[in-house]
Amino acid sequence: MPASERPVVTRIAPSPTGSMHIGTARTALFNWLYARHSGGTFLLRIEDTDRERSTEANVQVILDGLAWLGLEPDAPPVFQFARAERHRAVVARLLETGGAYRCWMTVEELAAEREIARAEGRAIRSPWRDRDPPAGVNLPHVVRFKGPLDGETLVHDLVKGTVRFGNRELDDLVLLRSDGAPTYNLAVVVDDHDMGITHVIRGDDHLNNAARQTLIYQALGWSLPEFAHLPLIHGPDGAKLSKRHGAQAVGEFADMGYLPEAMRNYLARLGWGHGDDELFSDAQAIAWFDVRDVVKAPARLDWNKIAHVNNHYVRAADDARLTSLTLEAMARRGETIAEDARDRLMSAVPLVKEGAKTVLELLDLSRFALVHRPIAIDAKSEALLTEEVRARLGRLAKHLWSQEDWTPAALTVALRAFAESEGVGLGKFGGPLRATLSGGLPAPDLASALTALGRDESLGRIADALSPRK
Ligand code: GLU
Repeated sequence: MPASERPVVTRIAPSPTGSMHIGTARTALFNWLYARHSGGTFLLRIEDTDRERSTEANVQVILDGLAWLGLEPDAPPVFQFARAERHRAVVARLLETGGAYRCWMTVEELAAEREIARAEGRAIRSPWRDRDPPAGVNLPHVVRFKGPLDGETLVHDLVKGTVRFGNRELDDLVLLRSDGAPTYNLAVVVDDHDMGITHVIRGDDHLNNAARQTLIYQALGWSLPEFAHLPLIHGPDGAKLSKRHGAQAVGEFADMGYLPEAMRNYLARLGWGHGDDELFSDAQAIAWFDVRDVVKAPARLDWNKIAHVNNHYVRAADDARLTSLTLEAMARRGETIAEDARDRLMSAVPLVKEGAKTVLELLDLSRFALVHRPIAIDAKSEALLTEEVRARLGRLAKHLWSQEDWTPAALTVALRAFAESEGVGLGKFGGPLRATLSGGLPAPDLASALTALGRDESLGRIADALSPRK
């Protein structure tokens, strides 16, 4: 049955090479969205055939990355290397049906053929295509695919449209290396077929492979999956994404304090979109997403947009969750936190999150609440505390002492009433009060800062600042 008529099965097929690239995250997201949109299945295949880089730790990076992104597959992962016997069996079948041949070309012969092929503007061919095996058969050899010499291979891509490849330019690729190891293109075809993948959605750096893979499917008499090749993600300057553009690994985004739901929302718009909608829920994305609507042009990473989207989700996030994320960020930096500071953090988070673009910013904005008495007061803040101001703050402290309702609204009223009783504007003591409460660290408006600190801590900090210098 053609893939388009079967229930949708998508997959993400990362190689466990160390970190999980943001492009892989976007590919995973699109596969996940398309599967969810179609009521289908989203699978994971770990392409661990590179035995040196494929460590358990690197596999864990992928599992953790997907779990963090909230894109967990619907079945346990398939490990490609473990399927090598099956890959070899398929190659044996191709050898029997004439779809593949053994090739005894030496390194030197291959180099010479490469030169000739380049000069003639064609892909390399092996003389063993149409030759009988040499005598003394057990010489080391590879198995090559026996591709057509002329004509065209068409890839009907759901994003790129129909892409034509001249078969002259597609070489007889190696299916099995001389040590019997299956190669990438062969393994991908066999695994996608066996896993029942209907839609191969991946980065467009694999478009050329789609032509080679199409030929292998045809040689095996298997029905083709639908292909959809996604435009790459570029940096803000339009150049290919690289280290100098900043973070690239999913783990780095997590560590900087981006929220997974914000990443899903932001990444969904890299190459796809729903009109001008910038902010949307998973449910909306799932309802709207169709891989056919992905655009061809490369998408650009835009740090301002990520920050904007993330700020939206930080504001919407549950305070207890944000508090524990902030504590995790501190733990990662090796910072410990005492019980009382933890309580103040919990009170500060809802009052400062409005301005936080990331969890790390949430930490910066909460820092004033975390420091311990007596807090350090920077020189600029200290300079505000003149004799006159100190006297006034002393009266303010008394005023606040009798303040029962310790909430932003009530404290705003109390501060105003105090200003009135002093016959001055809030400006006359607002700055200095802030100095005593935060010592010059960023802090929210006064009523919020007082609320976050609580009565005892606030009055204690004011008293510390007013007490005679040591
Ligand atoms: N393992 C390949 C990669 O990480 C993906 C192959 C595919 O999606 O077909 O680029």
